[in-house]
Amino acid sequence: MTKRIFRSICLVALTVFLASVILIMGVLYEYFSNALQAQLKMQTLLAAQGVTNEGIAYFQDLQVKNYRISWIDTEGNVIFDSASDTAEMENHLEREEVREALSAGYGESSRYSATLMERSFYSAQKLEDGTILRLSISQNSILTLLFSMAQPICIIFVISLILSVVLATQVSRKIVKPFNEIDLDHPLSNEGYDELAPFLRRIDSQQKQLRRQKAELLQKENELCTIIGSMNEGMILLNQKGKIISINSAAGKLLDADTDCIGSDLLSICRNLELQEILARALHGEPGENMIRLHGESYQIDADPVTSENIVKGAVIFFFNVTEKEKAEQIRREFTANVSHELKTPLHSISGYAELLKNDMVKEHDKIPFAGKIYDETGRMIRLVEDIITLSHLDEGAGDMQRETIDLYTLAERALQSLKPQADSACVALELSGIPAVLNGIPQLLYSIVYNLCDNAIKYNHENGNVMVNIQHKNGTVVLSVEDTGIGIAYEHQERIFERFYRVDKSHSKAVGGTGLGLSIVKHAAKIHNARVEVKSHVGKGTMVIVTFPK
Ligand code: ADP
Repeated sequence: MTKRIFRSICLVALTVFLASVILIMGVLYEYFSNALQAQLKMQTLLAAQGVTNEGIAYFQDLQVKNYRISWIDTEGNVIFDSASDTAEMENHLEREEVREALSAGYGESSRYSATLMERSFYSAQKLEDGTILRLSISQNSILTLLFSMAQPICIIFVISLILSVVLATQVSRKIVKPFNEIDLDHPLSNEGYDELAPFLRRIDSQQKQLRRQKAELLQKENELCTIIGSMNEGMILLNQKGKIISINSAAGKLLDADTDCIGSDLLSICRNLELQEILARALHGEPGENMIRLHGESYQIDADPVTSENIVKGAVIFFFNVTEKEKAEQIRREFTANVSHELKTPLHSISGYAELLKNDMVKEHDKIPFAGKIYDETGRMIRLVEDIITLSHLDEGAGDMQRETIDLYTLAERALQSLKPQADSACVALELSGIPAVLNGIPQLLYSIVYNLCDNAIKYNHENGNVMVNIQHKNGTVVLSVEDTGIGIAYEHQERIFERFYRVDKSHSKAVGGTGLGLSIVKHAAKIHNARVEVKSHVGKGTMVIVTFPK
């Protein structure tokens, strides 16, 4: 900018200088030419007076220095000329000043020499006898003047040039200084040119807008980072070359990668073929999903292309841990198969006995035992169906069941009372000890916990065995223990007895009317109450199941 202003000032100064020289010279030249013409006219009038009075004698001894004097007769012939031989001179009638003088009495003109270096002024006066007296004088033309003044003009030009350079430097610096001193961080605090005020106000408002937008962007970025970072699902964002742009901590852990992997190729971190395949598809604009196993767990990977204006700019990959889902699905499948199997067996025997009865193929004295078997199998099926209904209810979270404040001791009393007939027929003694323990829970579920545990303790007991139920307060918890002196459970089965339809001895379980679902119901019901279930058992000695309820 300084250079531009400097150049402009210099150019203006030099243009003004040249224009001034030309104008001044032109005006002066014209002024002096007019003065010379006026002087020539005066001289002509005086000489005309002299010639009128003295005739040709006037020219004798006439001393003319700068002038040229000519006397022309009425025919245009030169009678006298102070500069040339009259005999050789051509007719002057056609000369402008002569024609003018002949017609108007006085005439004047000026003419340039062939080289334009000289200009001649002519002044002609008609005398009383009709002859013409003409005076002429020569003057240097303006070009000659210019050439002759070339040296001083050049000196003045150089001085002007130096002056304009110095002044232009200073002026341009002074003009530019306020621009250089503008504090763009605080646009409104600047004092400079008034013309800059709108510009600075605009900068200020744009800066405020930018700061606002930056803060908003930062906030959104933080929100996004927090959301992505706290996601349980792994997420990786890649550019169109398959290089990682962003990776959340879940995906980092999964692929054993840290934040240093940003910018590196995903395939250099994970060489899984399925992942490579769906990533390649996503980068070609095709969404895809696949299952992979990482760290012994199953993951569903979803890869989607990220497009902008129909051009694939990258891809995003999500990792969903579906191990639990797969397990649940497998349990459900097994459960369905087990249920069908468990129902098929009693139905077959019911159908078999009923067919024999229908075809009257049973002896009279066998009819009652047959009916008894049908009754027993139906009873087993009813228990099975009831347990299945209870379990599926628990699977759904038992949300419709009301929680109440209830005494576990009273519940245990009721359960033991209803189990008394079974205990008596199995010759097992029931015993309840401990203190009242009030809990906030679902009464039906708490009852089924106590009932199932006591039922098992009776079913898997020896003749003349014992069942001891105890309810205690311990370290702020309520502890229910059901102990028996029964057959016990081998260590390797203790974990699995809570699985659906798992029985240590299937025939024994069936013989005592077990469904294989009792402990599964206990486990689920305890879970709904945030209670912990433990088993302590020794084969041949007995089993103790402890359920600890938080306060
Ligand atoms: P079931 O209806 O067969 O009793 P459970 O789910 O209640 O089904 O129990 C699963 C299995 O655990 C039983 O079949 C049995 O083998 C074993 N079991 C449960 N409780 C006891 C116990 N108190 N003593 C010995 N074995 C037991």
